[in-house]
Amino acid sequence: MATLRQQIATNVLTVTKFRDLQKTVAANRPGDDLAIIKKAYEYAQAHHTGQTRASGEPFLIHPLEVAQVLAEMKLDSGAIAAGLLHDAIEDTEATREDIKKEFGEQVANIVEGVTKIDKIDVATSKEERQAENVRKMILAMVDDIRVVLIKLADRLHNMRTLEHLEPQKQKQIAQETLDIYAPIAHRLGMGKVRGELEDLAFRYTDPIAYEQIRAAVEARRKSGEDFLNKTVKFIQGKLKENGVDAKIEYRIKRLYSIHQKLLKQRIPVDQVYDLLAIRIITKSVKDCYSALGAIHGLWRPVPGRIKDFIAMPRPNLYQSLHTTVIVEGGMQFEVQIRTEEMHKMAEEGIAAHWKYKHGGPVSAKDEQRLAWLRQVVEWQQDVQDPSEFLSTLKVDLYPEEVYTFTPKGKVVILSRDATPVDFAYTIHTEVGHTCVGAKVNGRIVPLRHRLQNGDVVEIMTQAGHTPSRDWLGFVKSSRSRNKIKHWLNVHQRERAIEIGKKLIEKEARKYRVALKNIADKEFDRVATEYGLAGMPDLYAGIGYGKFSARQVLARVAPDFASGDVQPQPESDDVRDKPGGLAGVIKRVFGGASGDSGSIQVTGHNELLVYRARCCNPIRGEDIVGYITRGKGVAVHSAACSNVTNLLYEPERKIAVEWSKKAEPKAGKPGTYPVKITVACDDRAGMLKQLTAVISDDNTNIRNIETRTGDGNATIDVVVDIEDMKHLERITTGIRKIAGVREVQRVKKL
Ligand code: MN
Repeated sequence: MATLRQQIATNVLTVTKFRDLQKTVAANRPGDDLAIIKKAYEYAQAHHTGQTRASGEPFLIHPLEVAQVLAEMKLDSGAIAAGLLHDAIEDTEATREDIKKEFGEQVANIVEGVTKIDKIDVATSKEERQAENVRKMILAMVDDIRVVLIKLADRLHNMRTLEHLEPQKQKQIAQETLDIYAPIAHRLGMGKVRGELEDLAFRYTDPIAYEQIRAAVEARRKSGEDFLNKTVKFIQGKLKENGVDAKIEYRIKRLYSIHQKLLKQRIPVDQVYDLLAIRIITKSVKDCYSALGAIHGLWRPVPGRIKDFIAMPRPNLYQSLHTTVIVEGGMQFEVQIRTEEMHKMAEEGIAAHWKYKHGGPVSAKDEQRLAWLRQVVEWQQDVQDPSEFLSTLKVDLYPEEVYTFTPKGKVVILSRDATPVDFAYTIHTEVGHTCVGAKVNGRIVPLRHRLQNGDVVEIMTQAGHTPSRDWLGFVKSSRSRNKIKHWLNVHQRERAIEIGKKLIEKEARKYRVALKNIADKEFDRVATEYGLAGMPDLYAGIGYGKFSARQVLARVAPDFASGDVQPQPESDDVRDKPGGLAGVIKRVFGGASGDSGSIQVTGHNELLVYRARCCNPIRGEDIVGYITRGKGVAVHSAACSNVTNLLYEPERKIAVEWSKKAEPKAGKPGTYPVKITVACDDRAGMLKQLTAVISDDNTNIRNIETRTGDGNATIDVVVDIEDMKHLERITTGIRKIAGVREVQRVKKL
């Protein structure tokens, strides 16, 4: 039981804080309903009574501080009331229904949203917990962004008072702040909150680095501030001469941002050079550029450090001009130039638009911010693995972007190392799906090409073209990744079902089992036995190679299982039956046009058919298809030594053929990389002659490696080959070179 004196002290503290809150609200949102805030305060006071924080302070201080942060963000009274109540459901007797009755549906929803984010299953691993937390945050954002703003304010106050917790806990919470909360604040354009979260967390995540940088900054503070004071006055005069009306601020850079810079540039702390920054806030965009000109007239800019985020805003819509200049004596400082409006947006982000609004944000910029969130939500529903979710999210949360252009000059912002496929998916999903090649600055590039700032990208599409699984190996954005995966999942399944069905039919024919006498519900029953939902899943499982057709048939047709039925002789070779499996495979994988129906074995762009890596067959070779377990149809060279092993399960062998049409690839006929080993004399000019033979045939060389010794040389060359004839032409040509002893194709690349 607290003494009377303690109770009075507590009351004085909380009442003072509440008065401050009322003052802030009145100043930031004159005319707002203060009654609901007062009511929420009294409600929180009644419910949290007797509770204390780790610091020993009354618990009520916490919701009051959170509400204060929200009031400073200029949020509406509903959000502030929800901020006062944010821990009520979690930590007191209060229920959602109570809050709804007292404060209405909206406030209750927000408080519940905040509570849900906190409720995480403690049984899961740390990483899963983190991923789950982010998922919930993002889902909550879409319902009502104020939930996340309250969560950020909550985290901010917890970080401000983190010193009262155990060291272990401090570190964990600080790390989580850096991993999740600061990036989300950044993504929402809330520079001020992000900055404070980062600096508070840095102290605990890396205390040694923090202390070093803090000491280095302190040692330079006095001289730095003297310099900045002088410089600001000087700039002020110059801007006046140029007719620019501007406010100038200066600051010493944030510790965490210095830390990141040191890490990036790999320099020690005593070389901190650009910790000084000046900010010029103008009345108009025109004045921003005038000011930049004036600054560059005074000092020499550091090359490569001039950035125009006004013309090309960052993905979080940050706008500003940045430049770094060098003054006499080698001292550098950064100058940021922006308008008042841009400055407000940079500091407050999505919260900046709450001033005159209740409920959801409406402006175009807010819409753009929320578009990102919606995108994240759209794909997060498809991602099952929490760690994958987190890692793709991290790519999105730390955008190191490149600016590219459409041929018409529209800016397309992509993450660093993005490829033409990412570009295509950013334009439109359909452009992504049908993308076959790309030109960058007028030159054809491979689809895995890494785009650079300023690239003009033209995507070549082809109707009917479909995404390739290989693309997953190089795309950068989570958006393209998920679009591709989604497409593959849907189509792979359709095909697997069709193949599964035909495999069953083939097997039934072979053992003279009359499928038409077996009811569909028998298949459904077997599906259930396998733990599947129904017949389509069962077919799909067979198509993917998870179960064999014979196994399934034995379960649906008991006669067959008892051994009464003998297999028919192999006369019904699938090759001879147009309606048989080969026919389906052909139809599904290629010759849809109904010509001789040959399979288009591409190995790249078809999903379930791929060239076996052991022998890499090329067009013109005799080939054999084999339905693998779970990976689709592998196409081997008929001469491949692995093919004999495939006879273990002859029912999985299928006939495949090369399609007549070559696979179109970036406008050129399809080619395959083929490795050729040449044994020859080690003499001058050998390599030159060899490459001449290959390039005279208009053949692309992918790679060339030479080993020499004892006057002999072995040259491994990987060339792009269209078909067997092409390969023979090349090998014959190489054999004719004087000093070449042996030319061999290496099956395995
Ligand atoms: Mn809280």
